[in-house]
Amino acid sequence: MKLIERTNCPVCLSKKYKTLYNISYNDEKILAFLNEYYKKRMPINLLKNFDYQLVECLECKLIFQKYIPDDELSNELYDKIISSEESLKKKLEKKDLNLKYDNEISLIKNIFKNKKIKVLEFGSGWGFWASRAIENGLDVDAFELSDTRINYMKEKGINVIDDLTKNQNQYDFIYSDQTIEHISDPHQIFRTFIPNLKKGGFVLLNYPSTFNFKKKLSKNYSPQKDAAHPLEHINSFNRSSLNYLVKEYGLEMINFKFRFKPSLRNLLKDIKNLFYFDNILIKKK
Ligand SMILES: [Zn+2]
Repeated sequence: MKLIERTNCPVCLSKKYKTLYNISYNDEKILAFLNEYYKKRMPINLLKNFDYQLVECLECKLIFQKYIPDDELSNELYDKIISSEESLKKKLEKKDLNLKYDNEISLIKNIFKNKKIKVLEFGSGWGFWASRAIENGLDVDAFELSDTRINYMKEKGINVIDDLTKNQNQYDFIYSDQTIEHISDPHQIFRTFIPNLKKGGFVLLNYPSTFNFKKKLSKNYSPQKDAAHPLEHINSFNRSSLNYLVKEYGLEMINFKFRFKPSLRNLLKDIKNLFYFDNILIKKK
C-alpha cells in the first residue's frame, strides 16, 4: 500500500501543469485533518514520504492530486478506513437530501414526459437515491462496489447489478452522485457509462464545486473535506475539464435544464450552475 505519482492530467493527458498547493503528508495541517476525519484509522506512516500536492492542468484546467492511493490503499480506504457504520449514520442524519432527490427525480420524469424508462444509478452507495426514485415510480438498477452497501440495498429490495457489460444500450438515464471525483481515471467512467446508455439518453453527474477553490487555496489553506478532500477527491472538475470529456465522447452538454421544467426558480438554478457548476446533464446524441 502506497501512493503513486501521476505525471499526466487524467482528463486531457497533458503533461503540463502547475502546482497550486504543496505540503508534506508529515505537515501538522494535514495530519490533524486525517487523524480527526478518519478517527486515527489512516495509516499515516505510509504517507509520510509523500507530498499532498494539488496541481492544475494548463490545458483543460482540471485540478488534481498528484499523489493518489494505489489500488491496494484505495481498497483499504473505502473498505476499512472509512467506517461503514459511520458513513450510514451520517447519511441517515442528512435531512435535506430528499428535497434534492425529488428535484432530480422530477427532472428525469419531465425529460421523458412520464414515459416508461430504465434508470441506472452508478455508485449508488446505501441506495437512498435509488429507493426514493423507486418510490416515485422509476425503474432503477443500482451499481455499487462495496459489499456492505450492496447487501443493505438488497435488503431494501433494490435491484443491484454487478456487471455493467451485460446491459449495453439498456438505459434511458444514468445518475451518479459524488462518484467521479473519487475515481482516478475519468475516461474509465465515460467508457463504462456511455455504452450502457441508449441513443438520446441522458446522464446526470453531481460532484463538488470548484468555484472559488483556487482563491481559497491561496489564502492560508488547510486541507479539508472540500473540492479536494485529501486521498478521496483526487480529481476536481470544472467546466473546461468536463467539456473536454463531453467532446471526447461525442456527447452534448445541456446547460439549461429548466427547458424540461420551465419555471423562474429552475432558470435561476441553471444560471447559478453556470458558475457554481456542481452538476452536469449530458445527452448521448
Ligand atoms: Zn488536462
